[in-house]
Amino acid sequence: MLDSKSIELTYFDGHNAKSHLVHAYFKESMLHIEGDGINRVVAIAEVDWPERQRHGQRQASLPNAGLLTHHDSVAWDAWVATARGESLVVSWQQSWSKTLLAMFLVVGFVAAGWQWGIPLLARGVVHFVPAEIEQQIGRESLKQIQDIGLLPSQLPLVQQQKISQDFNAAIAVAYPSQQVPHTLHFLRSGKWPIGPNAFALPGGDVVLTDELVELLHDSPETVTAILAHEYGHVIHKHSLQLAAEGTLSSALVGLMLGDVSSWVASVPIMLQQMAYSRDLEREADEESIKVMHANRISTEVMVLFFERIKKQSQRHNAEDETLSISFSSHPADAERIARFRAAAKSNR
Ligand SMILES: [Zn+2]
Repeated sequence: MLDSKSIELTYFDGHNAKSHLVHAYFKESMLHIEGDGINRVVAIAEVDWPERQRHGQRQASLPNAGLLTHHDSVAWDAWVATARGESLVVSWQQSWSKTLLAMFLVVGFVAAGWQWGIPLLARGVVHFVPAEIEQQIGRESLKQIQDIGLLPSQLPLVQQQKISQDFNAAIAVAYPSQQVPHTLHFLRSGKWPIGPNAFALPGGDVVLTDELVELLHDSPETVTAILAHEYGHVIHKHSLQLAAEGTLSSALVGLMLGDVSSWVASVPIMLQQMAYSRDLEREADEESIKVMHANRISTEVMVLFFERIKKQSQRHNAEDETLSISFSSHPADAERIARFRAAAKSNR
């Protein structure tokens, strides 16, 4: 009996070089192979399935000899997916033993999360996320954030270049041996009133709004200091850490099984909802202070920002719907102001 999920494949019995054209289909937990004089039924779990990432021809080894091949990887993957049912369980693309191991690891990680705290765990996890995935997340997040309602900057190009140059020069002085990859993006509020703001996304994308530049038009050093704070978040992979905290279990499943697409898609939403802890803010502030000290910029310039943003929010009396990880929504409390004031004194 063939059902609609059957596929035509090439079969080798493992004893003879002759190939056979067969129909294969899944039924319950079994793989049925039927063709000219061939009728094999094997447990799906005993088949050595190829990894989905590989392009080109697919082939699967059967227990006790035998091979199934197909030249069209797309058709093969679609067929295998019918057995898989749910996209989250990517297990069929890999061997069952690996999946089992991954599941044990996930259980272990979750248990460890309860034991030692998810933030600590997420902090560790970020170091295992490959750079290209982190960049992919950053690009996706930036795209989604722009779609929500940020527009291209209206600052003159020469002013944008000046800000970039000042910032890059400042971090080159503070971190002479190496700097982490980062990209500045100049945007402004559109439908989304983000106001004077800056934020860092996974992969080193740092967004700066025109409104922030305008608010600090007479103090470019403050802009540099704020960017240095965001650069601190980049150095410590804070936004990725936050995303990992928010989606820990799916993140781990995704990372271990090699299917990160669903996780990548969930990160921008995560980043709009979660805020940095005081500890992460302090860590980013410390990098900013380091940059200011190295460049002989008074850390009081940061206090100027806090004062102006406070005045502005009183004047507008509006609660801007803003990104939780962005600079203006960071707690501009007495503790932070005191930190920058103290840093100013210590460097005199
Ligand atoms: Zn921050």
